[in-house]
Amino acid sequence: MSLTNRILLAMVAGILTGSLFNLILHSGGVPGMAQTLIGEYLVGGLFDVVGRIFVASLKLLVVPLVMVSLICGASSLGDSARMGPIAMKTLGFYLLTTAIAVSLALLFATFIAPGSNVNLSTDLNYQPSVAPPLTDVLVDIFPSNPIRAMADGKMLQIIVFALLLGYAISHAGEQGRRLASFFRDMEAVVMKMVEILMALAPYGVFALLARLFSDMGIGAIMDLAAYFFTVLAVLLLHALGIYSLLLKSFSGLSPRILLTKMRPVWAFAFSTASSGATLPITLRTVEKRMGVHNSVAGFTIPLGATINMDGTAIMQGVATVFIAQVYGIDLSMGAFITVILTATLASVGTAAVPGVGLITLALVLEQAGLPVEGIALIIGVDRLLDMVRTAVNVTGDATVSVIVARSEKQMDEGVFLDPKADQRPDRMEEDVVPTV
Ligand code: ASP
Repeated sequence: MSLTNRILLAMVAGILTGSLFNLILHSGGVPGMAQTLIGEYLVGGLFDVVGRIFVASLKLLVVPLVMVSLICGASSLGDSARMGPIAMKTLGFYLLTTAIAVSLALLFATFIAPGSNVNLSTDLNYQPSVAPPLTDVLVDIFPSNPIRAMADGKMLQIIVFALLLGYAISHAGEQGRRLASFFRDMEAVVMKMVEILMALAPYGVFALLARLFSDMGIGAIMDLAAYFFTVLAVLLLHALGIYSLLLKSFSGLSPRILLTKMRPVWAFAFSTASSGATLPITLRTVEKRMGVHNSVAGFTIPLGATINMDGTAIMQGVATVFIAQVYGIDLSMGAFITVILTATLASVGTAAVPGVGLITLALVLEQAGLPVEGIALIIGVDRLLDMVRTAVNVTGDATVSVIVARSEKQMDEGVFLDPKADQRPDRMEEDVVPTV
């Protein structure tokens, strides 16, 4: 069986096992021994440990991979004057796709009206955290200490440092070329580490999902079914419809191929609910299986994992309308535009870890003049939606990366079209960084 199928099978098995354990653990008639065995040894013991080790190993690779990949990319592009246009195009697409995402969410939520029949309970309690001022956010993108940036995993700071280093390498003559070749070797080795981890992914994915679903059960969906399925429908429409449309119209490439190649990445995104932890897999897939050259992927994917969160924006759009409906507040046209702007910015500021989209939702609600405590209404199903929206977030990163690479002729179409492609031809590596 192929690795992709094994990972997908592990995903389904994890969900089923977890849901079954949830039933067993919450039904009265099961003997105490069985409860202890399942609850403490399997769920709280084995699954928990394997899942946490799996996520830790994924995170372990993020900083080294982003560093070397961006340095290689920037050093190969540094003297071609394409860095600026690539950065502008990428940012433009990321913002555009997010604005489309939240607009779709508002449109659907307004028509479906998921909040119109919900009774408002009075004991809502949600304390929003205070957002830092915009000036601090901007200054914080520039690192004063690269080692601290790496130690803290500050992705934007790492991106700035790696771009600068890569650019300098490309302008440093002979010494620069030597260093570039070192980083290319390093990249191949770190990619190998990602490959090793992917081979173990079925166990990690199974453990994470089995643990999560035995704790959660899927009963929570029923209470908030209208909200849950509205978010889900818009997420699917955006991932399958809008991205396909954009890919086809801007690059002429087949969306079906892109979506098929994204399947294992979805399993990682779904089970970890973190675009950050999924980053190594997204990057590897986009480079090795879709043929995007690392001069583009090395920049677009880490940046996308950090600032491009269309799925999160969709949840925030639907949630805003839902909360307004529950509270019986009519949203004006001005409020809709505010939501589009703030949700786009909030998703930029959402960290690529589980559950943060719900925190930045407070910002959107405040701007739209809605009660922030309304967040308490949707917390119950947020983890499940987080898994799906993270899969959408990473699909957006990959789609934009392919569109930008294609338009910059930094892509090997043969690799994209080849269903079995897993290895970028050596020839492409040689074109870019001159050998010493
Ligand atoms: N979990 C999401 C991600 O990492 C962020 C969020 O929406 O909470 O992409």
